[in-house]
Amino acid sequence: MADLTHDGAGVVKIDGFPVFVKQALPGETIDVKVVKIKKQYGFGKLIKIHVASPERIEPPCPIYNRCGGCSLQHLSYEGQLHEKQKQVMNVMERIGGFTHLTVHPVKGMTDPWRYRNKSQVPVGEEQGRIIAGFYAERSHSIVDMEACLIQHEDQDRIVNLVKELANQHGIRGYDDQKHKGVLRHVVIRRSRISGDVMVVLVTKEQALPHKEQLIQAITGEVPNVTSIMQNINPKRTNVIFGDKTVCLWGEETIKDRIKGIEFVISAKSFYQVNPVQTEVLYEQALNYAALTGSEKVIDAYCGIGTISLFLAQKARHVYGVESVAPAIDDAKRNAKANHIDNVTFAVGEAETLMPWWYSQGLDPDVIVVDPPRKGCETAMLDAMAAMKPERIVYVSCNPATLARDMKYLSEKGYTVKEVQPVDMFPQTTHVEAVTVMYREG
Ligand code: SAH
Repeated sequence: MADLTHDGAGVVKIDGFPVFVKQALPGETIDVKVVKIKKQYGFGKLIKIHVASPERIEPPCPIYNRCGGCSLQHLSYEGQLHEKQKQVMNVMERIGGFTHLTVHPVKGMTDPWRYRNKSQVPVGEEQGRIIAGFYAERSHSIVDMEACLIQHEDQDRIVNLVKELANQHGIRGYDDQKHKGVLRHVVIRRSRISGDVMVVLVTKEQALPHKEQLIQAITGEVPNVTSIMQNINPKRTNVIFGDKTVCLWGEETIKDRIKGIEFVISAKSFYQVNPVQTEVLYEQALNYAALTGSEKVIDAYCGIGTISLFLAQKARHVYGVESVAPAIDDAKRNAKANHIDNVTFAVGEAETLMPWWYSQGLDPDVIVVDPPRKGCETAMLDAMAAMKPERIVYVSCNPATLARDMKYLSEKGYTVKEVQPVDMFPQTTHVEAVTVMYREG
């Protein structure tokens, strides 16, 4: 057995035919039961391990085999980093067509547990009892949990408390099949710097029975909760948040600090989930941007302006664009609070706003992009290339779309030498990567 798929399954070749086997590791000798066969590949179940990989470890989480949240806990952390590097190399070659590219070893964590500052936990019911936990793999059935070993202990305490209170007061959990019930998700955010916690209760309707008791119990039991919000999502959808958010108690935002800059974060704004590795990632992006103080910079997909404000300290001016309006409100507030005034933030889709900026004559020296998993739209890539910046720094949470977009940009006259993966999501198969592309000639 040689490889892992992008979602962490082992690839076993049976007479050359690839079969994906969950929790099988490269180098192992195993018995597999083939359970499903498709044209190009099949799926198998791991029955017995005859020779285990030296990298195999006992997964510490008691519900690891059922929960779909993590998929690499059975692999040592060193092994995980090695696999992630291979995964990035693989897509760079296969999707990007880059054969002479250096993919550096993944920058990992010293302690790869309890790192998440954010939890988004689905709530439901099982035999009349409230349950809360992540979905089983490729399903919408909730695996009830007491603890999640990649999130902070405060987050466990709050999930358990909300469950207990909902059971006690008869607040119904949401049933996504029947589209019935009250409580859909508990979303928790924690500031690494202050330990302050924001709790967001996502409900199907505005009415939240026993609201006062909930507030009293949560603030009484977990004193570092500084904000309790309610988000109302009446739609039949997988998207967690609805349009409306109200403050039930305390502050409407939570504050955190990265490398000396303070950030105000609203319930719905994007904020990196691994604060330790965020510093490593941003440091790398800043290095690649190689600013001297005179540059005009665009930070596209800027969220609450995190990367923009770091760049602004070393640039002449930074233009940030982001599609979520409250995130841009946060970004503007963050600039002000940190006395940074050489930034301009705009709400809009990068693929629409960038061509417009280009038509207005904006000519950046450096462009930094940090798009969601699907990567950049073609209109965005075209606008970037048309602006002819010296450097494009690309931060990506999906190496496959990164490789695709790099290939496109390389056809537009940009060259690339190296990619630096950063492990933002230990125990899962996700990997972040950052690279810089230079304009030729
Ligand atoms: N750079 C930020 C945010 C990165 S996450 C940080 O490090 O914190 C990607 C961001 O892109 C999210 O804030 C998301 O709301 C935004 N986004 C998604 N699609 C977009 C689009 N088409 N145009 C602009 N922003 C978009």
